[in-house]
Amino acid sequence: MSATYDVINPATEELHTTIGQLDLEQTDAAIAHGAKAFTTWREVAPGDRAKMLRAFATKVSEHREELAQIEIANSGHTLGNALWEADNVANVLNYYSAAPERLFGRQIPVPGGIDFTIKEPLGVVGVIVPWNFPMPIASWGFAPALAAGNTVVLKPAELTPLSAIRLGELALEAGIPEHVFQVLPGRGSVVGNRFVTHPSVRKVVFTGSTEVGKGIMRGCADQVKRVTLELGGKSANVIFADADVEKAAASAPGAVFDNAGQDCCARSRILVEKSVFDKFMAHFETAVKAFRVEDPRLATADMGPLISQKQFDSVSEYVGENVAFTGSKPDGKGYWMAPTVLTPKNTKDRAWNEEIFGPVVSVMPFDNEADAIAKANDTEFGLSGSIWTRDTGRALRVSRGIETGNLSVNSNSSVRYWTPFGGFKQSGLGRELGPDAVDAFTEVKNVFISSAE
Ligand code: NAD
Repeated sequence: MSATYDVINPATEELHTTIGQLDLEQTDAAIAHGAKAFTTWREVAPGDRAKMLRAFATKVSEHREELAQIEIANSGHTLGNALWEADNVANVLNYYSAAPERLFGRQIPVPGGIDFTIKEPLGVVGVIVPWNFPMPIASWGFAPALAAGNTVVLKPAELTPLSAIRLGELALEAGIPEHVFQVLPGRGSVVGNRFVTHPSVRKVVFTGSTEVGKGIMRGCADQVKRVTLELGGKSANVIFADADVEKAAASAPGAVFDNAGQDCCARSRILVEKSVFDKFMAHFETAVKAFRVEDPRLATADMGPLISQKQFDSVSEYVGENVAFTGSKPDGKGYWMAPTVLTPKNTKDRAWNEEIFGPVVSVMPFDNEADAIAKANDTEFGLSGSIWTRDTGRALRVSRGIETGNLSVNSNSSVRYWTPFGGFKQSGLGRELGPDAVDAFTEVKNVFISSAE
């Protein structure tokens, strides 16, 4: 290992542990191992590959408490979230363990023979993960990639490598052969960038900031390398006057402050129809003040600290004159920030436009349906969003009108492992999860066999 990295507990600012980071030479060696392992992994019988993925899922479930504790200490995630995240990895593995025996091609009618397609694995897949949801986002890449017969090299974020390293160990314990799934902690500019430039890595799955994602896409162009991008967001939570306004207000804190707002799906712009704006704000204030920001190890915690001092400083820049009200936060050490509600004067405001990635939400009124859609779409992003209305026709019209990948009506949930997830516009390219994700880890090969004598 060329360098070390100090992992800090964000709730206490104490040194949690120190880990080694891979240099370029070690990254190349791991990629070479992955390329070699691919030649045998792709040949494993579909049923056997499926069994290994299920064994991996079982291992993860057996270690859910341990994995959750790792995430609490490394990332400051609340106990409830961290357990959900460990379970999500097991669920994603189980879901895609059904894929190897169902990786169907097609038989297409042609004259003079038979034509069929095969879904071939790509080779080594590089998965680059951000720090906000280290476990689930890793598994959304590695589970379908492995199921399709690829080997995986995975780079966790510098700040949050620990749960991924443990998942790599559990994979081996579960019987996934050596070098089929390798976790390579290291710097983005070293390990991550090598996934982009190394010719043996045939696809890059990147989740992170839009800025870095654009660079990855440019880099992949050199080798026409396959790429999936899951990038930033600035999602709208649109509340119409005919909605259950109290319910929308009660659930709005969770929709933006979950994971301290460090969520690409955070509904960080709330749009409320003018006639119910004051009513919404009154209920919203009650809900924000009741949102529990506390020691993430407690089962009662709704929100923990931000991930780092750097993130704290960057989020703080957005909090100025427009604060309508805030929630609470603990005193003392840790990167704690109170949930903060802003009422920007107009749509040019920085807080209204930029992804803050912290517990800060902006609320603005709208006039009518057309205005709501226009304001919701007035962003370069398009990842998720919510619509609150009791009018089914309106729910359909607005769902069609908002340019975003994942919408919920009368709910704020965006992520289910069996439904597709991804962004419109600059929120990304491609889709993860759901029934079609495995296709993104295969190439379609067409074969014609002549029946001529
Ligand atoms: P980031 O872009 O700084 O880093 C993401 C990952 O890329 C890290 O592992 C980092 O080491 C690596 N990296 C950095 N520079 C690189 C380079 N030049 N080449 C290769 N890899 C490089 O993002 P972050 O700060 O870790 O995460 C926050 C961002 O992620 C937010 O913008 C958020 O919206 C986004 N995000 C998107 C989704 C989604 O599904 N759309 C999900 C989670 C997070």
